Amino acid sequence: MKLDKSPSQIRNPKSQIGLGALNIIHAAQLVTLRGPARARRGSELSDLGIIRDGAVTIRNGIIEWVGPTDELPDKRAPEFDASGKVVLPGFVDSHTHAVFTRTRTDEFEWRIEGTPYMEILARGGGILSSVKATRETPTLHVQLAPRFFEHGTTTIEAKSGYGLNLETEIRMLEAMRAEQTLEVVPTYLGAHALPLEFVQYRSGFVDRVIDDLDTIAERKLAEFCDVFVEPGVFTTDEARRIFSKARSLGLHIKIHADEFQSSGGAALAVEVGATSADHLGAITDADIERIAESNVVATLLPATLFMMGEQRYAPARKLIGSGAAVALATDFNPGTSPTLNMQFVLSLACTQMKMTPAEAITASTINAACAVRREHRIGSIEQGKQADLGVYELPDYREIPYFAAVNFCVATFKRGELAWRKDSH
Ligand SMILES: [Zn+2]
Repeated sequence: MKLDKSPSQIRNPKSQIGLGALNIIHAAQLVTLRGPARARRGSELSDLGIIRDGAVTIRNGIIEWVGPTDELPDKRAPEFDASGKVVLPGFVDSHTHAVFTRTRTDEFEWRIEGTPYMEILARGGGILSSVKATRETPTLHVQLAPRFFEHGTTTIEAKSGYGLNLETEIRMLEAMRAEQTLEVVPTYLGAHALPLEFVQYRSGFVDRVIDDLDTIAERKLAEFCDVFVEPGVFTTDEARRIFSKARSLGLHIKIHADEFQSSGGAALAVEVGATSADHLGAITDADIERIAESNVVATLLPATLFMMGEQRYAPARKLIGSGAAVALATDFNPGTSPTLNMQFVLSLACTQMKMTPAEAITASTINAACAVRREHRIGSIEQGKQADLGVYELPDYREIPYFAAVNFCVATFKRGELAWRKDSH
């Protein structure tokens, strides 16, 4: 494999790109993911729609033309030379907790010393330490937003859930709305953990989350409602009540389901018509079949299990074999998954869950777009879609997961604008 050391050149100032047209030319592999704007299942996950020596014309932020470079219809536009490089749709990171205020490196050490996560949670650590810090911080923002672009991610979903009171939950959701460049899909996760002040009054907390949904919906602060369904956190009955209200207000549903133990979360996702069920580290065979027959996207988060030193991963092969719509995400959060690098998640998906590189890329682009209900706008490189693209300094897409934990992204386009570019070297 030859590594291209020459910087990619754009022969026009950055300011003109978004306003006019741009041709990305000579991509060694233009990975289009072309096809129906729906989740890919089974063998469809392996069909990347690669164009060799590929080109893309972008105009006013939208993809206008895609094909081989020698068939480019309009050659007058400024050019971005992608010779020797892979071009992918921008990664869609469909599960993050990216609004937080401080890291949890102390907890990182506790886990290394062998303290189980549920025990950390039970003694007021874990999520509750992030809740305390978030409540005390007046100005909140999406953490490390430019770093997502640096690693080829152009859209993220982000969850509230470190407030656990209406005032702070609203401030978290407003921080997502305030992020101007990275596209952030906001999710209300009011039932992320039971706050200390409600330990003696559990049902009262669930009632309050349900009441607060009125304000969240009225102010259009969230597109999704999520609940952490797990023994010791929230039950399926509590989640069912919350989701019933959320649906009546027009919110879509996501679920933290079967992360550590099987407790009916995946089955509930199917029952309530959730957009996605996330984690699924302990999903049962019966629930694999249920999810495979539904429209629920099975979002797998291998970085969380890796960072927690777990040996057992979600059964990706069984899910794909059963026909489930599988997506991948980072779960970027300050406690259990401090990575925001989707390229690293691809490496974990391949090595720990035995997904092929092609399956992992499909799961991180078009299927992840389905997990945030944006499959008609993002997730593939096709005419009419938003021009969200990542350029990698490698000639073969398989080398992205192969070179584990190394960032090969050299340029990222968001809505046709150059959102990030590696300095000339
Ligand atoms: Zn999560």
